[in-house]
Amino acid sequence: MENVIGVSLFKDIRQFLKEKNKKNIFLITDENVSKYYLEEILYYLVPFKTRVYILEPGEKSKCLKVVENIYMELINYNYDRSTTIISFGGGVVGDISGFVAATYLRGVDYIQIPTTLLAQVDSSIGGKVGIDFGKYKNMIGSFYFPIKTFIDIDFLKTLDRREMTSGLAEVLKYGLIKDYDFFRYIRDNIQGIYDFDEEILIEVVEKCVSIKTEVVAMDEKDRGIRKILNFGHTIGHGIESLYDFSKYKHGEAIILGMMYESFISKEMGLIDEEYFCEIIETLKDLVVPVHFSNEDITKILSKMSHDKKNLDERIVFVLPTGKNKVDIFDNVSKENMRKSLKGDW
Ligand code: ADP
Ligand code: ZN
Repeated sequence: MENVIGVSLFKDIRQFLKEKNKKNIFLITDENVSKYYLEEILYYLVPFKTRVYILEPGEKSKCLKVVENIYMELINYNYDRSTTIISFGGGVVGDISGFVAATYLRGVDYIQIPTTLLAQVDSSIGGKVGIDFGKYKNMIGSFYFPIKTFIDIDFLKTLDRREMTSGLAEVLKYGLIKDYDFFRYIRDNIQGIYDFDEEILIEVVEKCVSIKTEVVAMDEKDRGIRKILNFGHTIGHGIESLYDFSKYKHGEAIILGMMYESFISKEMGLIDEEYFCEIIETLKDLVVPVHFSNEDITKILSKMSHDKKNLDERIVFVLPTGKNKVDIFDNVSKENMRKSLKGDW
């Protein structure tokens, strides 16, 4: 597992493929990414046999049918064990491409070129690949690491504000769980991030990649410490599924989740009022907190109790216990959850 972080990395990618003596490339991307960048990347892939597979953007592409179509295409064009799959896009493209790479001919090499902030700081790191099954998200998958990940900050310039916010959620999460100074740095430089300040973005992405890599290295298969990366995700997932994954982008829901879960933490006496307020002040400017109705709260709690992260039907939370610190709890009272989701802080 190796990463390169920088700008204008196409030449490095070509160089890498040449050094590794790669000849057969199968590039998977989506319509939006190809609109902006396909011509350019293909220019750099001229020395290799290359086919391109373009997905429809969005989560609905993360299904078995699409995977089947990709296998078909790989077989029809005689892609053998020497194939290198290149994943060129956001989290959706990365998850499918990685899954295909993990399973086609029992595994072929793949390279990640994540093009969203969320994918650069989160989904492209850690080897989780997979697809949805029916209404169940990420139900089928594996752990499979790319031979190299090229993180090029240039791609972020074509992302819209909501997509940047969605990535910022995971960025802020790293600060809150592991590095309070980094959290403050992000807060103070948030405008620079939205303005695509290259220097700030490189610093931010490097930091996130190193935090996530460190956590993953301690627990590759997600059985222990890696769970701390789920801060904001227990309630966040509940909110995402309340709206059938359509109203909020993943990161937007995680920002909400981090606010509600921080409230729970404060109510349990794990963090003080001052730290709680600091978290809320930073996050509420990115996504406006909601006062959920009793009916919606009941639905969110029911979604949460069916989460695959739970153990023995107890809802598992990752809660801040101080600056740079989180811990795992399964003893949060329903009353506390309800109070938090009401949003009357
Ligand atoms: P994620 O946010 O998890 O990375 P997606 O893969 O669904 O998830 O990407 C989010 C959206 O952003 C998709 O519509 C995708 O086509 C689009 N997208 C990805 N990369 C870029 C980019 N560099 N510029 C503009 N749009 C992009
Ligand atoms: Zn997430």
